[in-house]
Amino acid sequence: MKRILVTGGAGFIGSHLCYRLLEEGHSVICLDNYLTGSRDNVSHLMGNRRFELLEHDIVQPFRIEAVDEIYNLACPASPVHYQRDPIETLKTSIWGALNVLNLARQYNAKVLQASTSEIYGDPLVHPQPEQYWGNVNPIGLRSCYDEGKRCAETLFMDYHRKEKLRIKIVRIFNTYGPGMLPDDGRVISNFILQALQDEDITIYGDGSQTRSFQYVDDLIEGLLKMMDTDDTFTGPVNIGNPTEYPIKELAERIVALSGSKSKLVYSALPKDDPKQRKPDITLAKEMLHWEPKVQLDAGLSKMITYFKQNHYQLK
Ligand code: NAD
Ligand code: UDP
Repeated sequence: MKRILVTGGAGFIGSHLCYRLLEEGHSVICLDNYLTGSRDNVSHLMGNRRFELLEHDIVQPFRIEAVDEIYNLACPASPVHYQRDPIETLKTSIWGALNVLNLARQYNAKVLQASTSEIYGDPLVHPQPEQYWGNVNPIGLRSCYDEGKRCAETLFMDYHRKEKLRIKIVRIFNTYGPGMLPDDGRVISNFILQALQDEDITIYGDGSQTRSFQYVDDLIEGLLKMMDTDDTFTGPVNIGNPTEYPIKELAERIVALSGSKSKLVYSALPKDDPKQRKPDITLAKEMLHWEPKVQLDAGLSKMITYFKQNHYQLK
């Protein structure tokens, strides 16, 4: 049994990760300031004696008893949320990474950084392999997230080179699944809630921009496999589903799968919104023996059922 810290553990991905680590028999400390997560997300884990919940902001240094592994997930991930207080978003990525790395150094813990496909910006290389340095606007509305995550990757690599820390960097591509909040603001939760209420589906731009959507269970499997790789393998490694969809097609699929009467409506594309995104997962296949299993329609159906059961009545 390992003692494992999950920062951002009360968020969407974090709550799935905490559950899975407990299932594997580990002891889990979930640290969160509830900015975009909540106690409700982990209420089903509270009865487990191997689960501990700590309210804390990772921007501030903290002490906990020795841990063997750390998953650093704390950071708002939806553009709506990370742009609300961009300076705090940057601090969370950068100062948060420093605090987590110092803790890992203190206990010689292995530490995994939840990085993002956003570090590729509006990519000019397609699909995106890990060797691609990206095309990021350093002064735009998305920069607080993109540059914060890029800087965190730099810090992780420098602690590895200078301090011999055992690090893992995972570049996560668009991930969805049960546990996303109705006000999350990301595209799949928005479209499903709109479809379930026969409201207009809000497509930004003409819907030709693409994303590649990964179901959360596939991601969790990838995170665990990455943590278990040999210490010489630091990544970064892309974890995502390489099947790419235009946003308009995503909307049409959600309308069809939910039997909705919603119409598609179009409005301005937010500034710097990436036009295309698709992971090259050759490295993950080779080093983690991992590839996603859940296809989009199957994952969307689970999400539709989840939202029907949990949030349909909220609006
Ligand atoms: P989320 O917003 O649901 O979860 C983030 C969690 O971090 C929340 O519980 C929030 O309260 C917590 N948090 C935020 N700032 C904090 C702080 N300063 N101190 C402590 N806790 C803090 O988002 P998510 O989708 O679960 O994303 C989790 C991680 O994965 C993030 O680091 C995100 O950047 C990364 N990621 C997610 C996706 C995706 O598609 N979901 C894609 C790429 C990367
Ligand atoms: N999007 C949309 N309607 C929405 C929310 C998002 O058309 O209600 C678009 C958004 O402009 C982007 C894509 O869907 O092109 C994915 O957006 P999301 O915020 O989910 O993730 P990200 O842009 O960070 O990949």
